[in-house]
Amino acid sequence: MLKTIKASIRTIPDYPKTGIMFRDISTLLENPIAFRMSIDAIVHRYMNKNITAIAGIEARGFIFGSAVAYALGARFIPIRKAGKLPSKTISQAYQLEYGEDRIEMHTDCLQHGERVVLIDDLIATGGTAAAAIELIRQLEGNLIESCFVVDLPDLGGSHKLKTELDCPCFALCAFEGD
Ligand code: AMP
Repeated sequence: MLKTIKASIRTIPDYPKTGIMFRDISTLLENPIAFRMSIDAIVHRYMNKNITAIAGIEARGFIFGSAVAYALGARFIPIRKAGKLPSKTISQAYQLEYGEDRIEMHTDCLQHGERVVLIDDLIATGGTAAAAIELIRQLEGNLIESCFVVDLPDLGGSHKLKTELDCPCFALCAFEGD
């Protein structure tokens, strides 16, 4: 199953700039079996764990996160790029593998101690996820785990989450070497 998921992900060398091996999940999404397997595997991991909220990171985290939230009967909380959320927000800057950005959450989107899983498509350096973890914790969510379809372990993000941020980290598949 995990082999099918990994095989469905296309690699585009030198996108969006030279030296980046872009792991393109659009081919996974276009493969109904691989997409269903991905969602089912994540749902299976968190069912019966009293997860009440799935926080998904814009944009690809929305695709996986909303399907998982629907299946678990949990709320979906969007973590958005700066300037997109209309009500009162908190904000956190972060470094990308290629650039810099800022993400935001509505201040009233989580209840105190609520059991949350963070979802994104991929973890590379972990900058995006670390910023999201910071926001969820500022809002006093109880972050149970961060979950990704793809881990790029050699870029150190998943290790950083576990060791420096004390946040369990799970991925459906990994690409070694970059
Ligand atoms: P990072 O903050 O370095 O962990 O980067 C994670 C975010 O950037 C995710 O939202 C990914 O969608 C995107 N990203 C970073 N590196 C790659 C890559 N090599 N292939 C595809 N997406 C990537």
